[in-house]
Amino acid sequence: MNSRVHQGHFARKRFGQNFLHDEFIIESIIAAIQPKPDQALVEIGPGLAALTVPMSKYVDQLTVIEIDRDLVARLNDNPLLKDKVTVINQDALLIDFNQLSSELAKPLRVFGNLPYNISTPIMFHLFKYADVITDMHFMLQKEVVQRLVAAPNSKSYGRLTIMAQYFCQIIPVLEVPPSSFSPAPKVDSAVVKLIPYKNRPYNVKDVSILSRITTAAFGQRRKTIRNSLSNLFTEEQLIELDINPNLRAENLTIAQYCLLAEHCKLEADAQ
Ligand code: SAM
Repeated sequence: MNSRVHQGHFARKRFGQNFLHDEFIIESIIAAIQPKPDQALVEIGPGLAALTVPMSKYVDQLTVIEIDRDLVARLNDNPLLKDKVTVINQDALLIDFNQLSSELAKPLRVFGNLPYNISTPIMFHLFKYADVITDMHFMLQKEVVQRLVAAPNSKSYGRLTIMAQYFCQIIPVLEVPPSSFSPAPKVDSAVVKLIPYKNRPYNVKDVSILSRITTAAFGQRRKTIRNSLSNLFTEEQLIELDINPNLRAENLTIAQYCLLAEHCKLEADAQ
């Protein structure tokens, strides 16, 4: 049998389709989420419903967002899901989660075995809606989880680390081998829990400025910030903020990035 065919569906690489079939892992993910009947659970990329069916047993209603039309048809036809599940056939990157939360009249609990090719853009998209999200549980490439939890002065520390830790508390949940999926991905995976802060440890007036500073710094991560941030800050300004211009992007703490964002003369993004 073709190893890309799972339950009669040909796994599409462009949609990052690696389907979970390991019952122990599936149960462990549901146990980590601890769904309650009246909560607004939202799954990104339900696929062949490996997580959707067990999740549906715990909740009164469940919203799922799937881009692949063939899979949407199967989800709509699945008798186990019929009464409880609302299927949205849409790119998760285009979903307005504020609107979804107000339609459901509840804060959202988001989860999913994310398509690895766009897991980082999906998380960046969701951070914009942190205020209406209670928590998120995601299966990701293990390397991405390492980036989420990284500390300064390490290779994994980057723009994703700073933006994720700005918005969320991050808790690794479990590691998952390639053999738990069909087809098996070439990389190790891990499940992580992200809890948006109610009271953020750091705060900036405009998060788009923080985002642009981290883009500039990590876009040239081997350079000193004197050079990589030269369009945004003079050397004197950095020294005034007590930030050594000889440091590189990975040496600055999140608090220092927030300090920079508060003193940056950039115009805020019109949003
Ligand atoms: N949840 C299933 C499982 O665990 O077996 C499938 C996980 S598979 C890694 C990723 C799923 O996300 C696929 O069903 C894929 O079609 C869907 N997907 C890919 N890109 C998407 C996007 N931009 N928006 C919504 N769903 C997407």
